[in-house]
Amino acid sequence: MSNPSDPSELIHRHRTVTPSWLATYYAQPIELTHGEGRHVWDSQGNRYLDFFGGILTTMTAHAQPDVAKAVAEQAGRILHNSTLYLSTPMVELAEQIAELSGIPDAKVFFTTSGTEANDAALLLATSFRRSNQVLAMRNSYHGRSFSTIGVTGNSAWSPTSLSALQTLYVHGGIRTRGPFAHLSDAGFIAACAADLEDLLGQVGGNVAALIAEPIQGVGGFTSGPDGLFATFKRVLDRHGILWISDEVQTGWGRTGDHFWGWQAHADAGPPDVLTFAKGIGNGLSMGGVVARAEVMDCLGANSISTFGGSPITTAGALANLRYLLDQDLQGNARRVGAELIGALREAGLPVVREVRGRGLMIGVELVGRDEQPSPAAATSVLEHARELGLLIGKGGLSGNVLRIAPPLSLTAGEAAEGAGLLIEALRRAQADSTDWASADAPTAGAPADGADGASTGQAPHDPSLERDPA
Ligand code: PMP
Repeated sequence: MSNPSDPSELIHRHRTVTPSWLATYYAQPIELTHGEGRHVWDSQGNRYLDFFGGILTTMTAHAQPDVAKAVAEQAGRILHNSTLYLSTPMVELAEQIAELSGIPDAKVFFTTSGTEANDAALLLATSFRRSNQVLAMRNSYHGRSFSTIGVTGNSAWSPTSLSALQTLYVHGGIRTRGPFAHLSDAGFIAACAADLEDLLGQVGGNVAALIAEPIQGVGGFTSGPDGLFATFKRVLDRHGILWISDEVQTGWGRTGDHFWGWQAHADAGPPDVLTFAKGIGNGLSMGGVVARAEVMDCLGANSISTFGGSPITTAGALANLRYLLDQDLQGNARRVGAELIGALREAGLPVVREVRGRGLMIGVELVGRDEQPSPAAATSVLEHARELGLLIGKGGLSGNVLRIAPPLSLTAGEAAEGAGLLIEALRRAQADSTDWASADAPTAGAPADGADGASTGQAPHDPSLERDPA
């Protein structure tokens, strides 16, 4: 029997039995063994400050005691898949989410992932409107199932779409890109809305819905100006088109100023449909759709799937939500996030083109010496940060944006510590990434794409690890 904590052995076994496209960020993947608060440990005993797990898995805190207790108690009582039977935690969680959503007359359907939530939302919207035409934003990410890949406008994730949806892509997700980038905020919004109106005029059909992330997550934490979706909503309303707000990354107070991302566009009123996932389960497989009752109830019969909203996931999520609300973690995200953004901006490093974000959803866009996007620098920062004991994410159309999304209970001290580690990692990447290495001092052994482990003395770069986890 091989040693399960031998990393090279585990990596070998992983590659043998899992798809080549399953992503891990690092030249040497990390095996996490346990966590506490904002920290996690790997099988080699290394401790990391977690600046990314807040979206991917652990929204509030690792091993949060209330969540652990609720899950253990429920596991001792009964485990089942829920949609054929009721459970108190499922109904209680649905009631709370319906109220928090801001959607009038809201109903909730639980799923096991964000992809499945968006699948369900698209099924509801296309059924309600009896149309397979949908609008999506350029540079979007909504999952990689058969339907969600069809509304994902980011080439790294949706190179070919065989989806049965007919998708029309809309401008507005990236403020600094596209034909309207040079305009003022108001001009940008007006131009995007006019373009949408023109598109609808050309299509002339019965479009079902617009699906959009208020802040694009995988796309590199980008967004249009506040108010964009309020203006879009007026256009959509004239055509009877539904608005689906994908809050998988922006929900639950992460952006500090708002509980949901759509609230930055408050003039719009609530969306018709909202999807959520990931963090609310604090690591449990939890997602869901909230929709106006007439939209939710439009399906003829029977559940979409039977597994969402099981007693154990909803018990854990309910405890997690209570902790989040009781501790005002939204307020914490606003305060601590502002400090973190300030510290990163102050560093003033040339490799950083922009530090942007809201609350604890912070993007750091990296460029090379030539001012062009530098995915090589991003890969290098991740490796250096890991060596220094800090986990971060990356994304963006060019893979050159660092994504920072810690658990929402991050303390001011941890934010300062993490900012220091990240700045040091940025300095090191600026010194050794291929996009910064000067002609007279080439980085020894670094391959041309720069996405290497060589600079860290680790295993050679494996292209199967290139993909950015969602
Ligand atoms: N929507 C958005 C905005 C996401 O960021 C993601 C995943 N990163 C998804 C949907 C898909 O969620 P999941 O991975 O849980 O299927």
